[in-house]
Amino acid sequence: MKPLIKCDSLVKIYKTKDLEVMALQGLDLEIEKGELMAIVGKSGSGKSTLLKILGGLERASAGKVMFEDVCLNELSEKELSAFRSERIGFVWQKSTDNLLQYLTAAQNVAMPLAFSGVSEKERNERAHLLLDMVGLSDRYNSYPFMLSGGEQQRVAIAIALAKNPDILLMDEPTGAVDGKTSERLQELFRKLNEEQGITIIIVTHDVRLADNVDRMVMISDGKISTERLLDGEYAVLDKAGRVRLSKELREAVGITSSRVKLEFDNGKLIIEPE
Ligand code: ADP
Ligand code: MG
Repeated sequence: MKPLIKCDSLVKIYKTKDLEVMALQGLDLEIEKGELMAIVGKSGSGKSTLLKILGGLERASAGKVMFEDVCLNELSEKELSAFRSERIGFVWQKSTDNLLQYLTAAQNVAMPLAFSGVSEKERNERAHLLLDMVGLSDRYNSYPFMLSGGEQQRVAIAIALAKNPDILLMDEPTGAVDGKTSERLQELFRKLNEEQGITIIIVTHDVRLADNVDRMVMISDGKISTERLLDGEYAVLDKAGRVRLSKELREAVGITSSRVKLEFDNGKLIIEPE
């Protein structure tokens, strides 16, 4: 099956007056329709940059992003903005980036539909349906300041889903809530993924999220290093056949030099410290 998203050697360079930062350094990644996955990495590893490029909020400096048959690099500003509004749902860490403070939960969720030719009655019905879906049936008329951090993130998810996007992109969605609330939100991600079939990508520095997703990919220095699927940990090969071993993996087996010993054993390749 063709992936929903395919990133090919993505490079992103931010230029400021006296400095160039290479936030993505030739990143390859494929995402299937219906996946619930996490992209995990330390602060500064390029997570937010990647998410913004996937959602058409930023453009890559080099490399290619395919979204089904659409090549995001080739879209005009106007086309990119339409693509974003029709196909992408974003959830950010900070509530104030997600919600309008002077609107109720239901009004917030109905807002994205305001200019889409849907009648007010239908907008309200859809808002209520989505708030039900995220577990806020009793909060339709609450303003953001009346809601807990976890509830505000649930509203944010309902807003992101209002226009029925192809994918939900979440940047540290549990970053501002306590551990217990984080777990309950993770249960919601899983429920939405399983029951509604929504493709969900979460970027986070919190490895604990990894237990509640189907696939976790590690990002470091703007590149995908390893992947963890349900059956174990995988290293990722780039097109030239290069493997990266993360610092954690190297430390775990005591690799300290710039060479490793390769051994072949019954169709297996064993990598050992020199
Ligand atoms: P993460 O989300 O994993 O913390 P980011 O994608 O935000 O990482 O940032 C990756 C790198 O790019 C960092 O070194 C960061 O300082 C830099 N960076 C991100 N956004 C900008 C920007 N708008 N201008 C300059 N540098 C940026
Ligand atoms: Mg970030």
